[in-house]
Amino acid sequence: MTKVVTLAHYYTIPEVQQMADRVGDSLDLALFAKESNADVIVLAGVKFMAETAKMINPKARVIIPDLGSTCSLVTMTDIVKLKQWRESYPDHVHVAYINSSAEHKALADWTVTSRNVDDIIAHIYSQGKQIIYSPDRNMGAYLNFQYGYNMPLWSAVCEVHDKFNKQALDELLNEIVGEKYVIAHPESPLPVLQQSDYIGSTSQLLSWVKNYSGNPEAVILVATEEGILYNMRNARPDLQIQQAPIYTGCKCNTCPYMKLNTVEAVKAAQNQGGGLEIDYLSEEVMERAIIPINRMLSFSA
Ligand code: SF4
Repeated sequence: MTKVVTLAHYYTIPEVQQMADRVGDSLDLALFAKESNADVIVLAGVKFMAETAKMINPKARVIIPDLGSTCSLVTMTDIVKLKQWRESYPDHVHVAYINSSAEHKALADWTVTSRNVDDIIAHIYSQGKQIIYSPDRNMGAYLNFQYGYNMPLWSAVCEVHDKFNKQALDELLNEIVGEKYVIAHPESPLPVLQQSDYIGSTSQLLSWVKNYSGNPEAVILVATEEGILYNMRNARPDLQIQQAPIYTGCKCNTCPYMKLNTVEAVKAAQNQGGGLEIDYLSEEVMERAIIPINRMLSFSA
């Protein structure tokens, strides 16, 4: 009998998260894929996550429910230009955010997630090496600002997090009477991050909320995709949790690619009657791209 496991990202809709065997952020999903002995992994997330799962667990069939589930960090990156950019820094270590295609990872020395990026980059610098960072310009700008690095950056953004807006945030913070906190994902623009009380990956933001022990009346503004608010409110129904604003009058910050994982599409993928199987990666790309992924997994283990 075929064993099917469903993994879902926190940014999918609650109904899909409820259908999943495991729910997590990018690093969690990679680790779940590594541990899994399933014949088929249905990955309710986006394509680069399914590609990563396939490279980590090549024996499993990996299926993504909707073939349109891409990511702006992938679509904004031209691989030919990326290769030229990488070659223009021959003495640098190329660190690539896991939100990148398999071909992109094949041009990198390390992959990182938003949870381990600070530690991995500090580790590489401690070895006296120079670094170039791709593809997320906002995350790179944050790391350069926060730690005084001078990493050359590739210029792509998450189209969801890039919309968080400091002016709208300031206006909302001024309207809120009483205690308030801003917690943000590092894919957000630097001015928003500079305004934040805590910066962390999706899982780290969830942990911050779970462990919050302050005034329950305080308003907590969350600068990340709205899907995680479902998990935060489930974990702490006693708290006042809102998504941070994009611009005045709009609070519609959702990832269109994650939302393509509908209940119907996930069911069809589970029955192997729909979706896209990740069977198109060349041996060459897989063999090269797994190197930076394994470096990261060994470091994070
Ligand atoms: S939320 Fe942003 S980084 Fe995540 S999949 Fe959507 S577009 Fe990509």
